[in-house]
Amino acid sequence: MTVRVATLGFPRIGGRRELKKALESFWAGNSSEAELLQTAASLRKENWTRQKEQGADIIPSNDFSLYDHVLDTSALVGAVPDIYGHKGGKVDLTTYFAIARGRQVAGGEEAGDHAHDCSCHHHAATDVPAAEMTKWFDTNYHYLVPEFKEGQSFSLSSTKIIDEYREAKAQGIETRPVLLGPVSFLLLGKAHGAAFNKLDLLPGLLSVYTEVLRELRQAGAEWVQIDEPTLVLDLDDATRKAFALAYQSLTSAVPDIRLLLTTYFGGLGDNLETALSLPVHGLHVDLVRAPHQLEDVVAKARPDLLLSLGVIDGRNIWKADLSRILKHIAPVAAKRDIIVAPSCSLLHTPIDLERETQLDAEVKNWLAFAVQKIAELATIAKALNEGHESVKAVLDASDAAAESRRTSTRIHNQDVKKRAAQKDAKLTQRQSAFPVRQKAQEEALRLPLFPTTTIGSFPQTKEVRQARARHAKKELSTQDYVAFLQKETASAIKWQEEVGLDVLVHGEFERNDMVQYFGEKLSGFVFTKHAWVQSYGSRYVRPPIIFGDVSRPAAMTLDWWQYAQSCSRKPVKGMLTGPVTILNWSFVRDDQPRSETCRQIAFAIRDEVQDLEKAGCPVIQIDEAALREGLPLRRKDWQHYLDWAVESFRVTASGVQDKTQIHTHMCYSEFNDIIQAIADMDADVISIETARSKMELLEAFTDHKYPAEIGPGVYDIHSPRVPSVEEMVELLRAAEKKVARRQLWVNPDCGLKTRNWKEVRPAITNMVKAAEILRG
Ligand code: GLN
Ligand code: ZN
Repeated sequence: MTVRVATLGFPRIGGRRELKKALESFWAGNSSEAELLQTAASLRKENWTRQKEQGADIIPSNDFSLYDHVLDTSALVGAVPDIYGHKGGKVDLTTYFAIARGRQVAGGEEAGDHAHDCSCHHHAATDVPAAEMTKWFDTNYHYLVPEFKEGQSFSLSSTKIIDEYREAKAQGIETRPVLLGPVSFLLLGKAHGAAFNKLDLLPGLLSVYTEVLRELRQAGAEWVQIDEPTLVLDLDDATRKAFALAYQSLTSAVPDIRLLLTTYFGGLGDNLETALSLPVHGLHVDLVRAPHQLEDVVAKARPDLLLSLGVIDGRNIWKADLSRILKHIAPVAAKRDIIVAPSCSLLHTPIDLERETQLDAEVKNWLAFAVQKIAELATIAKALNEGHESVKAVLDASDAAAESRRTSTRIHNQDVKKRAAQKDAKLTQRQSAFPVRQKAQEEALRLPLFPTTTIGSFPQTKEVRQARARHAKKELSTQDYVAFLQKETASAIKWQEEVGLDVLVHGEFERNDMVQYFGEKLSGFVFTKHAWVQSYGSRYVRPPIIFGDVSRPAAMTLDWWQYAQSCSRKPVKGMLTGPVTILNWSFVRDDQPRSETCRQIAFAIRDEVQDLEKAGCPVIQIDEAALREGLPLRRKDWQHYLDWAVESFRVTASGVQDKTQIHTHMCYSEFNDIIQAIADMDADVISIETARSKMELLEAFTDHKYPAEIGPGVYDIHSPRVPSVEEMVELLRAAEKKVARRQLWVNPDCGLKTRNWKEVRPAITNMVKAAEILRG
């Protein structure tokens, strides 16, 4: 039996972020379309060659994208919302980028990335806003949400998939084109206008897919990777039927092309029967998130179904334990031909570890990025095809790395583990219940009704960013840098006093990012220089890597708080990022449950909370901006996640006296289904994003579903607009109808770091006036 190596997709951004540079230069009008397409072609060529060199037998095409593969699919089938004025025919680059980023025709200025920071669209009427973006499953990649309307028709409107297949072929590389499956494509989109069943559009869509498959076959493709990741979600029967309809129709229309039905980001679970009943030639399953599904899949799959086993983690940066994988899949490989592959596209990993020349050698030996992961697959295949002896040295090295991770004192800190294992109920329990605390806090803080505050950050001006960059390059001494930041902080405090805010913040000028700042001060984290992954379009992020037990060698924010408080007699909030958010925005170790890592972080932040309190800090905010996005894909797994996430927050927040007021902050919009968990966090005050929803979101918090105090955002910080006093009064009056007066705070939706002072000064001034009016 033979084992072959496949990849399902490779990062598009280029090892030196070439794609970002080419896109930005093109958008700025500094280079031509031809130059952009030339860069794209050379990136594809490099990716194909690289994957081949690393030992991939089956290489994807059409995994590349100038912006987003879901948008590519919309372009392929001609699903372009009317506002972009597409008149049918080929979707050109101008339309493509208009959907991706919005376009300002007037003045000839592109809306640019701003379009994504600003979904409010208060632009001139000639402007077209970008389409909505949302997270791709539970990754940090964002896709452009397809928009469908009732009775919508589709037509083949792009030749990209065919062109790229041919392009590779001309270079002597046979590829397996990647196509987002029709059912997932529909499910990932949203209905525009009157509600209707998106699945009604399936037959029309299938005729375009049929055309695409025919053309690919004609061009010479034998296999197509058809991605249906929604098969790992909770599905109803109608959706399962849609899968059956789709694949019966495609395979009978184009019988001579082979489809690899590709699932990832979890197990098939109760959709397994559906997946196995489809008349496709191959099935890819995720064995990293769902190792146990292997047995079931093998037992129930048709003997002639080609299985592609996703054994290497495409979502993380760790070396695989090759011996363990070999043990797991050897029995299957002995009985049937298989493909070994990453669990999902490598889009979610950085490209090449070799570029990290400054990374600590011991830590580096535990890591594998996209390129290294393909080499790992090649080793697995060789071991199965030719015997373990044929790759003995590599397997030994893999075993040694795995063993070193199990035992390294860099990773394992017995004190940290012991502390995190403590289950004492007191650790997660404030001294008194909320009503008692509320009284104590009222006496300690003496705040007016409708107290005003902000969420933490003030504008990160060019000067602030420049000073940070110069300090990093050692052009600015630490002493001068600190002095500069203190000056910024002092003037922010002075301004807050003048404008009349009640609870002040220090402004977060010293922070590059709300997670990185803490990661750099905690042990157990490392940072890379080049390990970028795509977040959306030309925006890439470099998440911290949590490799070991987490502890806090020294206080992280205390100095800044103390300095700020020394400038004012009004209360200054301590400002921390919560454990769940730090976890969800990092690459997390895979050798222990996420819950354990989270709990360790929680204890580290707990110590910071207590240090702040000891120093006299009366109000401490612990941000959990990413709590919701950590929710598992399947409902049945939600409660477990929420339990440990909430418990971690409580570990962080529960070590203080009654009179110390704990705030939390969340900036997203869906609370209804997790309101109980949010209440269970037992914070004294929560600030949330509500300005744009006209307080509708507050509904989740009414009827005593939320017992504590709430600051519903009244200033939409995603927009450059300055809201008027009247507007904010109106919002607060709406809030008053849903939540008791005494419970309400007045604040913006989120931090102000992306805004500039010209907007912030009048907006906050108006906000304070609005609060005064409400007080009557
Ligand atoms: N305290 C942070 C800030 O104001 C919160 C950011 C966030 O919620 N994303 O910037
Ligand atoms: Zn926020």
